[in-house]
Amino acid sequence: MEWFRDRCVAAGLPCTHQRQVLYRALLEATDHPSPESLYERVRQDIPSISLGTVYRNIRTFLDSGLIGEVSLHHGSLRLEANNQPHHHFVCTDCRMMVDLPAEGLDEIHIRRPLPKGFRVNRFIVEAHGLCAACASKKTRR
Ligand SMILES: [Zn+2]
Ligand SMILES: [Zn+2]
Repeated sequence: MEWFRDRCVAAGLPCTHQRQVLYRALLEATDHPSPESLYERVRQDIPSISLGTVYRNIRTFLDSGLIGEVSLHHGSLRLEANNQPHHHFVCTDCRMMVDLPAEGLDEIHIRRPLPKGFRVNRFIVEAHGLCAACASKKTRR
């Protein structure tokens, strides 16, 4: 939370109670929640908060680099507070996501040139498979 307050100050963002509750919910989340799911959680603490406010603050957090967007292609925005380099395991059945530490994977290199003018900023590897719950459901069937 201290990191969050410092970063807010650095980004010139008022560190409001709402924003702190929102960020804390994201820090405590291990499931890479969508904005809607985050909204359900912060409503426990701030019943008067609106989904629009949650969206606006998430956008502000993303723009200032306070939080990260996990994946661009899961139908909905998925968020996380983990700002360490890492990859993801995604369950193809229930869409659950868990972090895979970056040290667990070999370094990634591009062996062929990218299309002219393209530039890579970072790599995110997604391992697709079944989580333990979905795998055991499949076995029972
Ligand atoms: Zn699953
Ligand atoms: Zn993650």
